[in-house]
Amino acid sequence: MSENQTRIVVIGAGIGGLSTAALLAKRGFPVTVLESQAYPGGCAATFEHNGYRFDAGATVGCGFHKKGPLDLLGEELGISWPILSCPAAWDFIQSDRRIHLSHSRQEIIREFPSSEPFWESQQSLASFLWSLSGDLLPWPPGDINDVASLVRMVIRKAPSFSSMLPLVNKTTLQWLASYGLDADRDFVRFIDAQLLISVQTTAQYANAVNAAIALDLPAKGTHRLTAGIGSVAEKLAKTVVDFGGTVVFGADVQNIEHKGRRVHAVTAGDETRYPADIVVANLTPDSLGGLFREPVARIDGMKKGPAHFWSAFVLYLGVEESVFGNKPISHVQIVGESGELGEGNSLFVSVSPSDDSLRAPEGFRAVTVSTHSRPEPWFQARAAGKEVYERRKEAYTQNIMSLLVQHFNEIDKKVDIIRSATPVTWERYTGRKQGYVGGYPQTSLFSVRGPGTPFSNLFLTGDSVFPGQSLPGVVTGARRLADLVERRFGTRSKK
Ligand SMILES: Cc1cc2nc3c(=O)[nH]c(=O)nc-3n(C[C@H](O)[C@H](O)[C@H](O)COP(=O)(O)OP(=O)(O)OC[C@H]3O[C@@H](n4cnc5c(N)ncnc54)[C@H](O)[C@@H]3O)c2cc1C
Repeated sequence: MSENQTRIVVIGAGIGGLSTAALLAKRGFPVTVLESQAYPGGCAATFEHNGYRFDAGATVGCGFHKKGPLDLLGEELGISWPILSCPAAWDFIQSDRRIHLSHSRQEIIREFPSSEPFWESQQSLASFLWSLSGDLLPWPPGDINDVASLVRMVIRKAPSFSSMLPLVNKTTLQWLASYGLDADRDFVRFIDAQLLISVQTTAQYANAVNAAIALDLPAKGTHRLTAGIGSVAEKLAKTVVDFGGTVVFGADVQNIEHKGRRVHAVTAGDETRYPADIVVANLTPDSLGGLFREPVARIDGMKKGPAHFWSAFVLYLGVEESVFGNKPISHVQIVGESGELGEGNSLFVSVSPSDDSLRAPEGFRAVTVSTHSRPEPWFQARAAGKEVYERRKEAYTQNIMSLLVQHFNEIDKKVDIIRSATPVTWERYTGRKQGYVGGYPQTSLFSVRGPGTPFSNLFLTGDSVFPGQSLPGVVTGARRLADLVERRFGTRSKK
């Protein structure tokens, strides 16, 4: 029996939903997680297919470093993550330029010597921001308690806050300009490529403060997960159960019931009704709005800024090991010489480790290749008919394969299996309207969402909520939400 009778229903077993659920289950709340798929993880799942375990979206284990968000979460929940430290985060490749992104920024500075002072400033700001993330910065403040703890934090760390202040409203390009780097076309392209994958937009729009921490991910060190990144969600789902909670797979929530400004039950596709005192939605605001019978003010619609929201086109390839030779390859970012990034002109390629026999049949590797893609044309193609949609899929696949062949000798001739996911697939698979994945473009600190909704007992978790995308991002948001729920609806901690 749980010590607390405040029933919590979590919609969605992504990293955000599961982290929130596990923390609340540990704190004594009776928690039920409802997941529409047959396995957990959402954008950070690993799925099985023909003897392979493919990472569906996320592939790089970020935030596991000492006192990083995943490390802190594991410590609190008693989880020992199945991780191994990677010598380099990923390789950046553009024509004949190749840069290992690792703990040290030396290779970057060797390529772009005049950028050294910029990296010093970035590093110092990032270490302050990591400390704020550890302290669960209550941003944006949702109530008077948040305001009070924000004020206390600002007073305690006044010198660091004041050095951050000049950048709060700057774009990354303006920040680069203050170091005379905005006219360095190659350096800006390098930064653009890093920002697109970490804050969903490029230097022209990306907020400088968001960029400072995003650019720090390789330097903080990355990890690989045995059996694929889905191990994180699998561990979290088990932890929910170990702390007395329940995780129901194949439970596609269709409807949220409410009376005035309180929600009180959710119903899954098989008509099972789950009464709830608190509902946590691991959804985008658009998808959450769709679960109410009538439009709900302030839930519908993602906040749109100047930058696009992205989805992704992803290829899953089972490939003969010989393609990779003896090189200890893991992640490679391939960027076209010019032109807009995404849509096959920039790729992120992740290859399963040779010594992880759980990922692929002997002699083969599981490869995930992703590129940013705008959803609208994909949905138009689908509306135009199966043939148009399939043709578009084939064109993307061919385009990506021809780029891959330039870097991986004869990869096209050594493919065992090939599968793809378009924005339409992402919408169907994650329930995210328009297949918007990767979180919101981080253009302003002042237009971000907190976990609150117009309902007093309905909260959002996941990458639509500050601080946004990535495993460390959603885990930080989940830790903040668990504290908020405990504070408002309190229970004694199960030790
Ligand atoms: C291609 C790609 C590459 C990425 N690479 C990285 C990376 O290398 N490293 C990194 O840290 N991050 C990466 N990310 C970002 C990271 O994966 C996401 O930010 C994070 O996993 C999002 O988690 P979430 O909890 O917000 O939501 P989701 O992962 O979207 O989870 C939501 C869950 O809710 C379920 N659900 C939805 N609707 C319903 C419903 N009605 N009823 C029941 N269940 C429902 C879904 O099935 C899903 O399981 C990548 C993302 C993508 C798409």
